Amino acid sequence: MVQHVLVTGGAGYVGSHACKALKRAGYVPVCYDNLSTGWRNAVKFGPLEEGDLHDRARLDEVIAHYKPIAIMHFAALSLVGESMKNPSKYWATNVNCALNLIEAAIDAGIDKFVFSSTCATYGDQDGVVLDETTPQFPINAYGGSKRAIEDMLRDFGASHGLRSVIFRYFNVAGADPEAEVGEQHVPETHLIPLMLDAIAGKRAALTVFGSDYDTADGTCIRDYVHVSDLVDAHVLGLKWLEEGNPSEVFCLGTGNGFSVRDVISQSRSVTNQEVPIIEGERRPGDAVVLVSGSVKAKDVLGWQPQRTDLGTMIGDAWRWHQAPEYEA
Ligand code: UDP
Repeated sequence: MVQHVLVTGGAGYVGSHACKALKRAGYVPVCYDNLSTGWRNAVKFGPLEEGDLHDRARLDEVIAHYKPIAIMHFAALSLVGESMKNPSKYWATNVNCALNLIEAAIDAGIDKFVFSSTCATYGDQDGVVLDETTPQFPINAYGGSKRAIEDMLRDFGASHGLRSVIFRYFNVAGADPEAEVGEQHVPETHLIPLMLDAIAGKRAALTVFGSDYDTADGTCIRDYVHVSDLVDAHVLGLKWLEEGNPSEVFCLGTGNGFSVRDVISQSRSVTNQEVPIIEGERRPGDAVVLVSGSVKAKDVLGWQPQRTDLGTMIGDAWRWHQAPEYEA
């Protein structure tokens, strides 16, 4: 029997990779996307249903047509810097869309929900090893809106039996090793793609946001996780719910912290080219260190990330940047 999974934001970076992983695992991913930041040509692994999450009637229509067994919710605004400048956009879009989706799921009798959350829900907790038990104190509207959705899922779990797996991502990086899909944002704000564009001469230089942090080399430290590994965890999360297990939260990171300068030097080695750099100001809303200390996804779900080496992540991203579909 065909098992559809509704994938909101399936035309975006993580969502498109999730569709590929779902298809490989035998599901049919139905991409629900308004294409505001997603890409039509990233929808390769199942049908595309154009629609907005604000549009409850359209959402109900798509759900009634495919009768998905579960929902994976990726669609969201996700830029820390923009969320600091325009918090109302983040609160209104992320929270209202999630509420609509959760209500639609409940009304349709769907009880399995996989949610894309973020380590930005932790805020800036210098020196604290972050895991699922760490209290959340977001310092930007992006993280705040994601934490609110986590709370919402807990409330609807208690009231309506909606079971959820919440994944708190650390820094997602890389691209499909077969370069069928990859990362493509307009405007791009993320470190690795901006750096690769600077190396390729598509941008003048990479600006390092702050070199005076209290870290070994003065730049911020992040935990980079390969997008293909990340989406594998989502398929395991879905199976966890299919087996009848209760709601859970998992951090997804590798546990290895790399500074901005580490990423620059790795990119130099992978591409064998110089990276043009400008030393810039700190970016508002940036935490100094975000590194996962969690092994729960491995222990409970049996998650086994394969592409944990930073050079592998950058190499896969670089190959995607050479693909004909990548248009910086
Ligand atoms: N960063 C940077 N220059 C850029 C973009 C990002 O120095 O042009 C830094 C940013 O300050 C952070 C790290 O790179 O310390 C990762 O940022 P990114 O936007 O990729 O992900 P985030 O951690 O915000 O989710």
